[in-house]
Amino acid sequence: MGAYQDFHKRSIDKRDEFWAEQARLIDWHQPFERVLDYSRPPFAKWFVGGLTNLCHNAVDRHLAERGEQKALIYISTETGQSRTYTYRELHAEVNRCAAVIMAQGVAKGDRVLIYMPMIPEAVFAMLACARLGAIHSVVFGGFASHSLASRIDDARPKLMITADAGMRGGKAIAYKHLVDEAIRLAQHPPHAVIIVNRGIDKDFATVAGRDLDYAELRAQHMDTQVPVTWLESSEPSYILYTSGTTGRPKGVQRDTGGHAVALAASMKHIYCGHPGETMFTTSDIGWVVGHSYIVYGPLIRGMASILYEGLPIRPDAGIWWKIVAENKVTVMFSSPTAARVLKKQDPAYLRKYDLSLLRHLFLAGEPLDEPTHRWMAESLGRPVIDHYWQTETGWPILTSAPGVEQTPVKYGSPSFPAFGYDLRLLRETDAAEAGPNEKGVVAIVPPLPPGCMTTVWGDDERFVETYFTSFRDKLVYTTFDWGIRDAEGYHFILGRTDDVINVAGHRLGTREIEEAVQAHPNIAEVAVVGVADQLKGQMPLAFAVVKDAARIATPELRREHEKEVMETVDKQLGAIARPAHVHFVTLLPKTRSGKLLRRSIQALAEGRDPGDLTTIEDPAALDQIRAALAAASA
Ligand code: AMP
Repeated sequence: MGAYQDFHKRSIDKRDEFWAEQARLIDWHQPFERVLDYSRPPFAKWFVGGLTNLCHNAVDRHLAERGEQKALIYISTETGQSRTYTYRELHAEVNRCAAVIMAQGVAKGDRVLIYMPMIPEAVFAMLACARLGAIHSVVFGGFASHSLASRIDDARPKLMITADAGMRGGKAIAYKHLVDEAIRLAQHPPHAVIIVNRGIDKDFATVAGRDLDYAELRAQHMDTQVPVTWLESSEPSYILYTSGTTGRPKGVQRDTGGHAVALAASMKHIYCGHPGETMFTTSDIGWVVGHSYIVYGPLIRGMASILYEGLPIRPDAGIWWKIVAENKVTVMFSSPTAARVLKKQDPAYLRKYDLSLLRHLFLAGEPLDEPTHRWMAESLGRPVIDHYWQTETGWPILTSAPGVEQTPVKYGSPSFPAFGYDLRLLRETDAAEAGPNEKGVVAIVPPLPPGCMTTVWGDDERFVETYFTSFRDKLVYTTFDWGIRDAEGYHFILGRTDDVINVAGHRLGTREIEEAVQAHPNIAEVAVVGVADQLKGQMPLAFAVVKDAARIATPELRREHEKEVMETVDKQLGAIARPAHVHFVTLLPKTRSGKLLRRSIQALAEGRDPGDLTTIEDPAALDQIRAALAAASA
């Protein structure tokens, strides 16, 4: 048996012993009494009775040994700024920020919503909340005010932290303005909003008695020390919203101790990051990848982490490699879409910089096609590791673990189950295990390992209902992905089993986009599907029925109307969810019981056979879809 197989087997067969060992990678203020309490399946409580704190593990505990070492390296190609913080400086900033937050009456268990661009203050705010035991909810800056409002109402934060503006591709994004709109829409708004004023948006509005300036507040707490609030391991550290099949996003709730241990273990065994080295994760703090591997993972490991505000090809396609070379990056983490973007650029950029210290490039978030995987590995001359995970798990489900064993890479495959995951591929029909090369639903036998979501924020029932009821007689966690395993044990992910789509690594619910389209007053009904896209993996496509047909009577009017609908989506959800096209039809394909036949629409849009249509109410609806697609490509 290979070393990794052995390691994985031990993580399942000798679960408690294995995780007790991993738990030594972090500091405990008080040791845990039991590794696992699984008395109420599928709810798992890890490291019961142990007291710890994420901020202590990410910052304070490094001060003695590496206080003067770099902790956070901020580089913005948007503003031309860069700033570096040692662990000691980071500690001071986090204390100031914690003092500012505490002064707003925020205490353990209170929620703080962070809606910020990629600037150091966003990291300070996350760590400061963790220090206080306040539960942070970071919302991705690409989400517009309507999405932000629904997250405010679900989490009910006492405080929000934002900035005047962000920058993307040289364009300013008015964060504060979006926050104002969201608060106007929300039923349960926070009583205070702290603004980091970057001086980008010179005339954002200020609401007296609610809006506060971060620089002013910080200046009052330059030397304040805020003691760490020790949390019981299972107490929540954060909420991160993610999309599913309903229009209502779910708040993925993460614990404290299990999360810290899982990240520490993954940093060592999977990412092979060593204390004192530098990690570069190109995601955003509003996504789980950024949460785990820009902020907590590398800092818990005692590494320096790069916080990059900018695009991969600006000022040129060499920027990331320049950053890697100049900062002696040993671990890099990016997305397949970024790799496909870079593949279109001149490969000379990759040869221009010394990348010899880079141990691996990890890619995740969406399927990595074999040609891109191969191209990236060959051009980089370094191992490129595809790994598969979800917001729900917070760290990889399928991966190779070069820190344990350097198993050969198979292009297009995220390799093997990560340690701690009792992963099965189950046949959809009878829940039996799929054989080699047979398609099955990727499922995990609970308890989910440390670090995975512990529940849906405020809704235990929804957690069980959503993730654990796909198979009638088997209590398993469903990922909602199809997968296969080859004869050598390598896994391949084949796409989602539900109506969730993945645009450039961003998970979006088609239902959510449909609701955004329907916010346009002239839309009666709409179906949104994801169609294959060469660059972004998938793109949303909308088929809409209008109320007043006079509005689309001519080609010009249609185009105008399409634009309006797209703008509605931008405003409701954010530009990431904007459909590539909005086709107008008078009828949508549905079953006789009224369910939208999204799969058939998607098949037609991708030039495939629409499948079994015995349940369709009116076949003429599919002809309309065909005609709309043909007209668009004509
Ligand atoms: P998110 O929670 O937004 O990270 O999205 C998780 C989903 O992205 C998974 O359920 C998969 O559908 C997809 N995904 C993530 N990583 C991979 C990967 N390496 N290969 C294929 N699909 C992936």
